[in-house]
Amino acid sequence: MTAKNTFNISEERRRILLVEDDLVGQESMKATLEDRYEVLIAETGEEALEIIRKQRETLSIVLLDLLLPGISGIDVLGRIKKDPEYSRLPVIVMTSDNEAEVECLTLGAVDFIPKPYPASKVIRARIRRTIELYEDRETLRLTEKDQLTGLYNREFFYHYVAQLDLYHQGTPADAIVFDINHFHTYNDRYGRKRGDEILKCIADKAMSYVNESGGIVCRSGADTFMMYCKHNDDHKALLTRLSACLNDGTDGDNPVRLRMGIYANVDKTTDIERRFDCAKMAADSVRDRLTAPIGFFDNSMREAEILREQLIDDFKTAIREKQFVVFYQPKFDIRKDVPVLSSAEALVRWYHPKLGLVSPAAFIPLFENNGLIEELDHYVWAQTASQIKDWKERINISLPVSVNVSRINLYDPELTDRLLNITKENGIKTENLLLEITESAYTDKTDQIITTVKDLRKHGFIIEMDDFGCGYSSMSMLIDMPIDALKLDIQFIRSAFKEQKDTRLLDAMIKLAASFEVPTIAEGVETAEQYAELKALGCNVIQGYYFSRPLPADEFEKLMIESPKKEDK
Ligand code: C2E
Ligand code: CA
Ligand code: CA
Repeated sequence: MTAKNTFNISEERRRILLVEDDLVGQESMKATLEDRYEVLIAETGEEALEIIRKQRETLSIVLLDLLLPGISGIDVLGRIKKDPEYSRLPVIVMTSDNEAEVECLTLGAVDFIPKPYPASKVIRARIRRTIELYEDRETLRLTEKDQLTGLYNREFFYHYVAQLDLYHQGTPADAIVFDINHFHTYNDRYGRKRGDEILKCIADKAMSYVNESGGIVCRSGADTFMMYCKHNDDHKALLTRLSACLNDGTDGDNPVRLRMGIYANVDKTTDIERRFDCAKMAADSVRDRLTAPIGFFDNSMREAEILREQLIDDFKTAIREKQFVVFYQPKFDIRKDVPVLSSAEALVRWYHPKLGLVSPAAFIPLFENNGLIEELDHYVWAQTASQIKDWKERINISLPVSVNVSRINLYDPELTDRLLNITKENGIKTENLLLEITESAYTDKTDQIITTVKDLRKHGFIIEMDDFGCGYSSMSMLIDMPIDALKLDIQFIRSAFKEQKDTRLLDAMIKLAASFEVPTIAEGVETAEQYAELKALGCNVIQGYYFSRPLPADEFEKLMIESPKKEDK
């Protein structure tokens, strides 16, 4: 894992600082080097340090005579090597004093050129070799380290964790991930400079901790850090220590908070990256928790993780073997005295050969994260369209059915064509395949999504905004947004009908929806009381256990045949 970046040294003229007071020496060295290098000259140690201070970044090497007027060459060398900013600049010492060699090497000189000078060829070769070595090392350093904080980057970090394991096999270790809650809002509010300061400060604290107690640390993302260290039970002390510099009063009433996930006593047979995934999972489990923001990776998380992996592994087979089955839940129009079946929602279920019936809550968020949802949605749309066709042909009922459209599909440039193909292949009208798009999807790339939604509507698709009220779409965006129905988020019903019934918010949401002149759909309606209340508040359509749970196609078919439908009025 070496970042071998071979420099072609003849490509560009490197800059050499020659520190030499003797004119003859200056001239002879210049003559040797000037055709290949740009040579800067300093005649005293003070001058040399001044040039280094101003031009550090452009210098490739320093050739330092030990016998100088004023501060000595040894002193100059010592000062260069002590200063962290300059210490990596290679210095070759020139001297006739063999005795000085050891001292200079101890101080950090890389090489010697004896006086009187050897043949030009020899000098050039030594200088060239030193510059090459130095530049290789520098490239490695830059790729290893994060520029802002000076910590390792992720890739090198993993490499060094492996080395630590090798040398400390019997020592119990912790994998720790920590990051800052809502760092981006913080950055927006107080500026990038302050953001950088905070990151550097955390990095310094983390560094000092691992230096003392053994371990290594890296910055693995914008505001995320990973630490691998000797096991320690007092993680609270560590968190306090890392947070120590954060709230010095500069940041008003918006204190910076770290949260931390720990996989303690790691199983060293687990892959290193996986150990940090586990710590990350633990950190995510305490997201937004203000007190005790430390999460531990435990067995339940491990099991959940194993389940997730299995679901992902099994996905392709499940599609191929049609293990995904679409259920249908009716939506009733409640504006008249008798509720009328107006449409249904297609909801997917997974009949897993080993796990049995798996609820969408277990796999939809997972597939939304890794992108598999796109393929699953296509599958559900096709199944649904073919079911609509079947009902139309077999029992002569054309009931519109809504399908869920995940956010990722909205970025698919072929979305409209895809949906049109599905409806065409099944000979159904576009207005019979309703599209539920979750409100939070609209807050992403607003313009692009408005364009997509307009295009879909132009082709006759009907759009229902799902989970309305739980995303953060702005009012102005709602005004620009062409939609055909608003589906209130299930939480509104839940919170309105807790022990302390309070329907004011629900009322406000229904009025808001009415002001956009589109029908309101309430989902999650479970009781007669809720039904009556919603009807009184002016809600138009209801979906929920009160009428029916989501049903397999054959059972839904019976319900459909028995229910009053629009045509039956
Ligand atoms: P959603 O789109 O908000 O769907 C409504 C969920 O509420 C469904 O859960 C439904 O079974 C449930 N529900 C309906 N009435 C009631 C009720 O009276 N009480 C209670 N407690 N729950 C009720 P389900 O089927 O488990 O689906 C959960 C979520 O999974 C859905 O939320 C949707 O976001 C997603 N989902 C389901 N099928 C699909 C699909 O085919 N594609 C995509 N992209 N997402 C899907
Ligand atoms: Ca839905
Ligand atoms: Ca919903």
